[in-house]
Amino acid sequence: MTTDQFRTLGHELIDFIADYRDNIADYPVLSQVEPGEIAGQLNATPPEHGEDLSGLVEDLRSMIAPGLTHWQSPNFFAYFSANASLPSVLGELVSAGFGVQGMLWATSPAATEVETVMMDWLVDLCGLPGGFHSSSNGGGVMLDSASSAVLTSMVAARYRAVGHRSAPELRAYTSNQAHSSVLKGMRVAGFADEQLRSIDVDAEFAMRSDLLAEAMTQDVADGYVPFFVVGTVGTTSSTAIDPIAEIATIATEHGAWIHVDAAFAGSAAVAPELRPRVNSGLEAVDSYSFNPHKWLLTNFDAAAYWVADQHSLTSAMAIVPEYLKNAATESGQVIDYRDWMVPLGRRFRALKLWMVIRWYGAEGLRAFVRDHVAIAQELSGWVDEHSSFERLSPTPFSLVCFAHVEGDDRTQEIVEAINAAGTHYVTHTVLNGRYTLRVAIGSVTTDRTHVEALWRDIVALG
Ligand SMILES: *Cc1c(COP(=O)(O)O)cnc(C)c1O
Repeated sequence: MTTDQFRTLGHELIDFIADYRDNIADYPVLSQVEPGEIAGQLNATPPEHGEDLSGLVEDLRSMIAPGLTHWQSPNFFAYFSANASLPSVLGELVSAGFGVQGMLWATSPAATEVETVMMDWLVDLCGLPGGFHSSSNGGGVMLDSASSAVLTSMVAARYRAVGHRSAPELRAYTSNQAHSSVLKGMRVAGFADEQLRSIDVDAEFAMRSDLLAEAMTQDVADGYVPFFVVGTVGTTSSTAIDPIAEIATIATEHGAWIHVDAAFAGSAAVAPELRPRVNSGLEAVDSYSFNPHKWLLTNFDAAAYWVADQHSLTSAMAIVPEYLKNAATESGQVIDYRDWMVPLGRRFRALKLWMVIRWYGAEGLRAFVRDHVAIAQELSGWVDEHSSFERLSPTPFSLVCFAHVEGDDRTQEIVEAINAAGTHYVTHTVLNGRYTLRVAIGSVTTDRTHVEALWRDIVALG
């Protein structure tokens, strides 16, 4: 492809994306295709001869778009949102255009240095502890996912506890509401399932720190070694908030590493009035992560991850083969992010975050999160006032969890009817054994009118 051909097709594709975003609310949010329907339209074998891609836009429109679930629709209320603001999309494009691989500072100094500054900007924007700033012993890195953050912390925690060896006596702890990535991380890191203890929660789905303390004390008495605790700020089911300060105190007494997973809710800390919910206790933790790709206007993938002690992470992860040795690394003056994560290679993710923060400014980011939280409080009020519905958990952020008072079958019918109608997309969870409708407010263009329309449809079915 010549650069002139690139220009022509590139302009056409930017127009296509802009039109797609303009019209996105017209599509059924949840894709209506049957399994195999999209694959059936593609040739079963690759083309022998190249082509000029002049039919590409039409193929995207007619073959691919029907097989999309429209995550960027303002009517997407399922799971948690996956923000892909337009400035972040452009940042992603530039990153691909540069095509650099920033595994070492030396392989693209800008990729490393912009990333370090962006992680420091987030410390500032979110009011995070100064111990996460790169000017301290700690620092941050951009990973692909919150799941990688928990795995990385787990490996660093094991190294701190016993060095590089497998250790069947080690025990990790998290609440029964924690994300499945904690158990998956244990499996990937080579632990047995019984090495992860599941701690019960209180009536608001927050980890009971008294039960954590009991479990750790009992394990020590039985000859086990507590090495790792995961607390959650904003659980996936209901955005419950574990008591991080209490958990950190208990974990520290036992010498265990404490990681806090705030994948969705972490973004809320851009609004100072929400910080007490998100940040309390973080000054005492070893590592922390949240996903700007969920609720901070940055397209997937962008997980922000900090450690309070860089050395505790890099000493666990660094392996320096001969072919990667270089003068900058040996000078000790630069960060080599490959020592902060599982993969060696890494893309220039910080560029899109730089574009997002410059475009919206701190003010724009605050307004974005505040709007969603305010709308969610309104929706909670409507649910509470309606005699057919009952809220099943508090609404500390912008996820509202509720059920029909007549029980699980009725609630499930409503979820299925809403999704079959196509205008909105919602998903469910189970809280205290009850089938629960989740309305997760967080998409880039969602405003009050979209939530009102959803509520009208729910009420009509109730
Ligand atoms: C979404 C979520 C995750 C997983 O995030 P990925 O970045 O997709 O790995 C982990 N923890 C919590 C609390 C989440 O809500």
